[in-house]
Amino acid sequence: MKISDEEMMSPTDIPFDKVPPYRVKVVEYVMPTTRNERKQLIRQHTWSAPNLPAEYIYINLCTDSGTNAMSDRQWGAMWLGDESYFNSKSWDPLQHVLKQYTGMEFVMPCHQGRSGEAIIYETFVKKGDLVPSNCHFTTTRAHCYFQEAEPIDITCSEYFDEESDFWFKGNMDTGKLKKLFIEQGERVGLVEVVVPNNLCAGQPVSMKNLRDIRSIIDKYKRRDVIFSLDAARISENAWMIKKHESGYGHKSCLDIVKEMMSYADISHMSAKKGGLVNIGGFVALKDRFQYQRLQPKLIRIDGFMTYGGLAGRDLEALAVGLMEGVNDYYLADKQRQCDVFAQACEKRGISIFHPACTLGVWIMAEHCLPHIDKHNGPATALCVQAYIEGGIGLTSMDSLHRGREDSRDPMNLDKIQLAPYELIRCALPRRVYTDAHYDWCAESIYRAMSWGDKVPPYVRQNMNLSRPALEKRDIGLRAFFDEYEPLFDHP
Ligand SMILES: *Cc1c(COP(=O)(O)O)cnc(C)c1O
Repeated sequence: MKISDEEMMSPTDIPFDKVPPYRVKVVEYVMPTTRNERKQLIRQHTWSAPNLPAEYIYINLCTDSGTNAMSDRQWGAMWLGDESYFNSKSWDPLQHVLKQYTGMEFVMPCHQGRSGEAIIYETFVKKGDLVPSNCHFTTTRAHCYFQEAEPIDITCSEYFDEESDFWFKGNMDTGKLKKLFIEQGERVGLVEVVVPNNLCAGQPVSMKNLRDIRSIIDKYKRRDVIFSLDAARISENAWMIKKHESGYGHKSCLDIVKEMMSYADISHMSAKKGGLVNIGGFVALKDRFQYQRLQPKLIRIDGFMTYGGLAGRDLEALAVGLMEGVNDYYLADKQRQCDVFAQACEKRGISIFHPACTLGVWIMAEHCLPHIDKHNGPATALCVQAYIEGGIGLTSMDSLHRGREDSRDPMNLDKIQLAPYELIRCALPRRVYTDAHYDWCAESIYRAMSWGDKVPPYVRQNMNLSRPALEKRDIGLRAFFDEYEPLFDHP
């Protein structure tokens, strides 16, 4: 019979930091392919794993979004889905869990993270505003441009120091935040903090940093300011706080999540990550009026306040998944998988970004393929070669793919800045792969890297003629439409 949330937390002497706290009931078969076929396939699909038909990717670490394996408890709950349009009964358990999870009084479901962001940015960000963040995720950045506001990334200095062994490299630079408020505070109406910092090697944010950001906002704000928490993987960030910030070792990750939330005014979450579901999200708020301002916008974009674009069964699965995703034994296992993969890489001399945090493993491609210049996509090239070697899907986050546009002059491609690191993101889908899979990923990357200067540099293709230019307000999504090609063929 179904094990309860409380039972899942019972004390144990089974080492759930070394073995998973679950077992497998359903398996998914994969399409066998050969090296030659994979070489053909990736050439046909613009040299990019995200553009391949997914069936040809054996181990897919391109993203951890919506790729979670659901539990027996979640599948069981889905049968209870009430598909009534208004006031579906299935909203009750989710609403209850969301209040428990966020500690906030007002909650609304939305179909995924970005639809929640859309209504928040539409309501609280004005034309000409500056929107500081520890590093905007792609979609919040895109929402800034859409509102004709300027996204400003102020990541802490430790992130840019490859040698630093600081545990919280995802932090915001609070000195720079304070300066921004002092110099241009009248232009700041929303501060966005993403936990952990997805686009900065998945690095976590400390509780102290959140507390400091809160007090800077309170002390220096010149108009109403929203502290908005982008909480897609907040439970995984909570695990890092539990393990590495003093004073939190004895607390449950649920309590840590709640404390993190307590410093914010609003939180939006893509539950496709830490919610352990395949679709879903929510917005949580402390203030009734702010909640009421969002209501009509939610109805226009996602649907009525009790379903937010989700089926009743999705609401049920999310209510269960959120609690599984913040369970300490589960999080210990997620971190263990990251460590297993990180060690499999290091054992083979593959350079990774330190520390490897609960979300995934980031490969430092500039060290793996030193013959490729930062302008020529070392990570792009290594991802393609690793797919050819072992059928694995990875996401390139190098200067070629993810160099940042100048947020004051975003249309000017000449002003695109190099990325601080030439990274590959290996995002770990939750409860999907075994240690043997991760060992094969490391082996595939190792074989790719071993080709050395036979792996080709990449250049951007000229897209001028093949599609209409992106509008300024869509420019934050440029990376999805650029195409690249190798200077010579892959081995
Ligand atoms: C995925 C993600 C989002 C957007 O959520 P979707 O569910 O994909 O719309 C926002 N912020 C972060 C940090 C994310 O990783």
